[in-house]
Order: sequence, then structure tokens, then C-alpha cells
Amino acid sequence: MTRNGLDRTRYIFVTGGVVSSLGKGIAAASLGVLLKQRGLRVTLQKLDPYINVDPGTLSPLQHGEVFVTEDGAETDLDLGHYERFIDASLSQENNTTTGRIYRTVIDSERRGDYLGRTVQVIPHITDEIKRSVSVLAEGHDVVISEVGGTVGDIESLPFLEGIRQFRQEVGSRALHVHLTLVPYIQAAGELKTKPTQHSVRELMQTGIQPAVLLCRTEHPLDEHIRAKIAGFTNVDPEGVIEALDVETIYEVPLELRRQRLDDFVLKCFGITAPEPDLRAWSRIVERIKAPTGGTVRIAVVGKYTELVDAYKSVEQALIHGGIANDVEVAIDWIASEKLEQGLDPSFLAAYHGLLVPGGFGDRGIEGMITAIRWARENGLPFLGICLGLQCAVIEFSRTVAGLKGAHSYEFDQASPHPVICLMDEQRNVITKGGTMRLGAYDARLAPGSLAAKAYESERISERHRHRYEVNNDYRMLLQAKGLAFCATSLDGKLVEMIELPDHPWFVAGQFHPELKSRPTRPHPLFASFIEAGARLALGIPEAQAAAVSIPEPKTAALGA
Ligand code: GLN
Repeated sequence: MTRNGLDRTRYIFVTGGVVSSLGKGIAAASLGVLLKQRGLRVTLQKLDPYINVDPGTLSPLQHGEVFVTEDGAETDLDLGHYERFIDASLSQENNTTTGRIYRTVIDSERRGDYLGRTVQVIPHITDEIKRSVSVLAEGHDVVISEVGGTVGDIESLPFLEGIRQFRQEVGSRALHVHLTLVPYIQAAGELKTKPTQHSVRELMQTGIQPAVLLCRTEHPLDEHIRAKIAGFTNVDPEGVIEALDVETIYEVPLELRRQRLDDFVLKCFGITAPEPDLRAWSRIVERIKAPTGGTVRIAVVGKYTELVDAYKSVEQALIHGGIANDVEVAIDWIASEKLEQGLDPSFLAAYHGLLVPGGFGDRGIEGMITAIRWARENGLPFLGICLGLQCAVIEFSRTVAGLKGAHSYEFDQASPHPVICLMDEQRNVITKGGTMRLGAYDARLAPGSLAAKAYESERISERHRHRYEVNNDYRMLLQAKGLAFCATSLDGKLVEMIELPDHPWFVAGQFHPELKSRPTRPHPLFASFIEAGARLALGIPEAQAAAVSIPEPKTAALGA
């Protein structure tokens, strides 16, 4: 037995019921925050019941953003919440899917590892599910595993069976948390517990008894309702927690603390820990709810704007930029196609910043280019992310450098000026899987550049997810015309960032800075971008940064 009764890792399994989109990921992450702030080493995991091996091939419009980890795993967007909440970098092991579990089992079967036995869901698939949870025990006091989907879904059954067995094997070192809905029926003027009762009954049919019920509700649960829910579900009344709607997701940990969820969980586990330190969280929430510096209006012009989940991390990083500057960030999501269908880019005059995010495929590209041109010509702060950088390079090449028909090889393979291209070594690869630059790579920043000023560093590491690169054949020319290549890979061969020295704030990166931003540590580029927006909002001119380019690589240029 070691400190505070914490001899071995504890496991929390989070399931959801009634309907989807109740915010299971945020709830799991918030419980993670409370336990982490009590000094426990916490990690979070998402178990996704779909058959895709990872969400990398899923459309962002169906499943929301693909969150890329440091080690280059393409994961569920809930991992973004986990990282932002517990302020830790996660990895491939923190996200698994039915597809990945089956692939592992089938690979073993093909190798002959099962020695002639029949391979079955129980025990082989469930064993693999349990293994994928227990691999996270190393170095952690608490592992929180969230099961995607809702109970009753056919595809989540093996996961439910896996986590049921897990609890059976480790006893009181594991507990189940179930998120449900307690709807308010206007006509009756009452909160209704029936959906929760049904959902818990469904869960209990799989053999799982929840210790905690997180009840999403628009109205507080009174003692009577709480007792009723507890009575019907065998849950201790202390474990019946109301999860009220809140103004910002960062308030959820504070809400759960108010109801002592963490105390109850520790009690169930038989461990003690110091009171949680939530001062930083309170400050974040205060700043988001009542910023003193006014409002910065940001236009995000992209292609997946119908579903804000498609840009979840971008949205959050912008909010973090607001926290850093004590301003409210008001975001409008604008479909870039609208600029192709007649929307005049001068609508951007109503904003303090333009952000063009990442994306794949050519829909809406010309609209992004039009918006970027307006921002460049009108001194509007601009942040380009991945595809946003590529569009900025195309726009500059066409308009400033006079390269007619300049384009990305992704969108126009016959372009006379493929200013964005494939690297030589990628040229002969036919499949789409496994050909992207994924995960964290280091970059070198030009001393004195706006980028280096924002980062307060000349060496950075950022996460990537892209296939195409700035074409080195054009670097010299574009640089001569005034585009600064202010960051490159350490060997100088790949352009990592661009900026315009004669613009108030025009910066783009080939990577995804939004993935590393945390409410407690806003990303420097987002903080600087929002600061530039705030200056514009307040009418304060920005002192120009003397941007410098990193010299051309000495190696042979790479064509498209
Ligand atoms: N489609 C571009 C590429 O593959 C940009 C990708 C992105 O924005 N993440 O390079």
C-alpha cells in the first residue's frame, strides 16, 4: 500500500444513454480535471464502437474534426477535449475503435497465435478491449475510459461486455459513470426521470451497475427527484449528480466540484487526496464570461462550416486567444463557397481577423483565396492554417508575383505554376493512406520574425496533417516579391510558416497550432492573432516586425 491508499491504478468507465450529444467527452474530461487537480496522475481514453480503424478517413462533416496527437495518430475529437482539460499530450493508445480491436485480433489469428482455437467476440475481442484499457495503467493513478455512442447500440455491446468484465476482475478499483438526460416537460412543468430509469435499466441488462449518474438537465434536480432516481437505479444519492447547462464548457469541472463528484469518486475508490486546486479554472471561466477588453470579431472562412465540430480545436484555440487577451472572441463561420457564388469579400471589413483553416479537396478553394486577398490588401489580421497557408501562397503567387494559373498540385495537376506540390519521395505513392505528414515536427523560426516574436522562441514543434508542401522552386521568387518564409523544417527543406513583413499581422503555418492550445496555456499564435485583432478593434496601429526569411535550402529544388 502506498500513498493515500493508492496502491494501484483506478479505472473509471463512462457510458452514455438516452440520446447522443449530451457531452460525455466534456463530462469525462471534467472529472479528469478534478482528479488531476487533486494531485492524481490521470489519463483519458476514448473507445469508439465504429468499424473504421481510425477517424482519419471519416468526413469532418460526419464526424467532426480529426484530432492529431504528438505521435501522429488520427483520433476522435474528444481527445482534443481531454488534452485541453487535463493539459496533457495523449497518443494513439488513448483512442481505439472496433476496427482497430478486430484488426489486432485478426492479425493474431492469421499469425496462428490462437493455436487452432475458435476466435470469438468473447473472450478474444473482449480481452483485446481490456488490454487496450490496461496498457494505460503504467504511470497513471486513474484511467478514465469513455465508450462512444449510447447504451443500446448494437456496436457498443462488445465494449460494454469488456468493461463489465474489467470491473469484475479489478473489483472496487473500477467504477462506472453513466451520463443520462433528465428532460423538462414544459406542458407538465416537471422534470422527467423515466428516460434515465430506462437507460440505466438498459445498462444493467449488460451487467453494469453505475456508481455515478450524471444527469444532463436544464433545471436543478431537487431532493425528491434525486431520491427518486437513486431509488430506481441502486445508485447512492450522493452519486446522482446534476449536470446543468453552463455558459462555457470550461465551467463543467467547477459545476461537478460544487456537487463534490470527486469526493464521491475517491470515497468509492477508498483513496484520499488533497482538495483540488481550481484557481486557474475559475480564472479561465471568469475571463470567458466577463472579459474586460471588448469583443474581437473573427471570420473563419472554410469548407466545413456547416458543422462547427469540424473545427472544434480551431474554435477552442480562438477562445483561448481571447482568454490570453481578456477579450471576447465572436466567431462567424463562413462557407468559402459563398465567395464563389457572389458574396463580396468586403464583408470582411466588419471583422478584426480572418482565419482560413485546414481542409482537403478543391471545393471552396477559390473563395478562400479571394478572402485572403482581401485581408492581405486591406491590412486585416490573417491566420492561415495548413490549407490556409497553401491558399495564401497561391494567392500571393498569382496576384503579387504574377504567376498566372498558380495553384496547388492537389487541385490542378496541369497548373503551369504548382507553387504547392508533392515532395519527390511522395510522387510515386498511389494510395491515400499513410502518405501524409502526421504528428509533431520541429521547425526553426527566422530571428526577428513576427512568428518568432509571437512564440518568443526560434525553435518550435507543431503537429502536422497534410500531404502537400510549398514548392521550393518558387521560394526565391516569392521571397523577392516580399513573402517571408519565416519558419522551415530544421534541414531548411520544408516551408513551415510564411508571413508578410509589410502587413500588420499576416501569418500562416503548414501545421495545426490549434491542436496544442489549452485554456490554461493559450497557443502563442492564437494569442498573438487575437491581440492583433484587438488592436484593430481598438484602432491601435501595430509596430512592424522586421521579418526575415530563412535562406533557401542548398539541396536540389523540388518540382511538382
Ligand atoms: N489538403 C492539404 C494537404 O494535404 C492541406 C491539408 C490540411 O489543411 N490539413 O496538404
